[in-house]
Amino acid sequence: MARSHHIDSLNIVMAASEAVPYVKTGGLADVAGALPVELAKLGHTVTLIVPRYRGFQTDGRLLRQLGTIRVKTAKGSVDATLEEELIPVAEGGQSVRVVAVRYDPYFDRAGLYQGPDGDFSDNLARFSFFSRAIVEVMAFLGSSRSEPISVLHLHDWQTALAAVYLKTTERDRAIVGDVRTLLTLHNVGYQGIFPGPQFSETGLPSDLFTLAGLEFYGSVNLLKGGILFADKVSTVSPTYAKEIMSPDGGFGLEGVLAGRRDGVVGIINGIDVGSWDPETDSHLAANYSRTDLSGKAVCKKALQLELGLPNRDVPLIGVIGRLTSQKGFDLLAEIIPELMAVGVQIAILGTGDRVLEDQFQSAKERYPEQISLSLKFDEGRAHRIEAGADMLVMPSRYEPCGLTQLYSLRYGTIPIVRKTGGLADTVIPYRPSTALAGRATGFQFSEVSADSLLATILLALKVYADREMWTSIQQAGMGVNCSWGRSAKLYVEAYRVLQAGG
Ligand code: ADP
Repeated sequence: MARSHHIDSLNIVMAASEAVPYVKTGGLADVAGALPVELAKLGHTVTLIVPRYRGFQTDGRLLRQLGTIRVKTAKGSVDATLEEELIPVAEGGQSVRVVAVRYDPYFDRAGLYQGPDGDFSDNLARFSFFSRAIVEVMAFLGSSRSEPISVLHLHDWQTALAAVYLKTTERDRAIVGDVRTLLTLHNVGYQGIFPGPQFSETGLPSDLFTLAGLEFYGSVNLLKGGILFADKVSTVSPTYAKEIMSPDGGFGLEGVLAGRRDGVVGIINGIDVGSWDPETDSHLAANYSRTDLSGKAVCKKALQLELGLPNRDVPLIGVIGRLTSQKGFDLLAEIIPELMAVGVQIAILGTGDRVLEDQFQSAKERYPEQISLSLKFDEGRAHRIEAGADMLVMPSRYEPCGLTQLYSLRYGTIPIVRKTGGLADTVIPYRPSTALAGRATGFQFSEVSADSLLATILLALKVYADREMWTSIQQAGMGVNCSWGRSAKLYVEAYRVLQAGG
């Protein structure tokens, strides 16, 4: 469909190592899948570049051959094929163009980043390759398209090198040399660190392997390179943006981040409000809305039945997510006896660290009528816990944005969170003043300790007994706008600053 090009419409190229609906291991895939669609709805031209892994979902998709690019590697140049799919965007926007880079020696294997024996040993070569391919795809597309590329939006360490190539080895190239870059950090705990002697895999001049470049305590650090060379850096919440500039949150990159003159902009992720909507969610036993919550009680009963918990009228606490120390679930494991004593039920869904899995497993065996444990990934069950639970606990040590608490808000399930990163930015804590003003949407604690978590859960249970107050907190949360539309507009602002030379 031909569409007149607005003067202020941008030509955005986005690159990520995973994206919904093709391939997903974490929240990055949700962002890389949803943001391009929202940008296209706003009238922008969007191309998304992803690697074509073996696990790439092609069922029901319309991929076609687009062409071939030649990509440099440390072992010489190789040909990669490009496959393309146009994803139609509702509401009269343009379609999103997805370009999958196919190079089987690197991507036709089980797993994205790791196999049964841990991280793939050639990850530096693989993602140097992908980052160079991003540049080549831009050159390939640019040569057949009149609109110049306004911005290249990169995500995490897997694509960070593209920003480095554009400012160094590819700097004088037509079409791509002047493209401005935004790098979004989804979790600074993952930096793409490789042994120093592998630096030559990047194909970058060795004078970039210094303290002022990609060198990091003798190793190669791709995220550091991206932070140094991208024209702008963003992360997924304003509070996390501040935290990563301090030693507690920067994982060694705090100095590099704080050294950026323009700082780091924080933009909260949106959620897919289409698939996460209690009014239409087909995973649920009953649907409900902000003005009629009666279906939520049906969902709670159905959840107790599904999980084998006795159907009791007691507070039901949901836990969903990776069972890791980042998420702080070890704090929860510590206070199980105290929580059992007050009679609550807990529904846990997640996988992760063995020690934590085992701890929850023995808790479940000890309190079978109060604890349910699902050690698996189960999308439908995640929806049913979000709907059926009364509250959801997220005691994260750090949390760049967090999606689970956003689903909870929307499902009238009151989040109990630690005051960090995106949790601090999205949950308005219950206090006499916020409660009176009808603004409170959840409960927060600051100190990383089992005691603070327990005290906050006990406070929530006290408020739970006040049905009128509880309902007003539920409704305040359900009224919060967590859509991608809001976030997409903020990204457009960031792109425009870049375009204007900022
Ligand atoms: P992170 O990306 O750090 O893991 P987020 O809260 O940003 O945490 O996103 C996690 C996403 O994965 C959410 O959509 C959450 O519902 C989902 N999720 C995590 N664990 C499971 C599980 N075991 N089953 C189903 N969904 C899960």
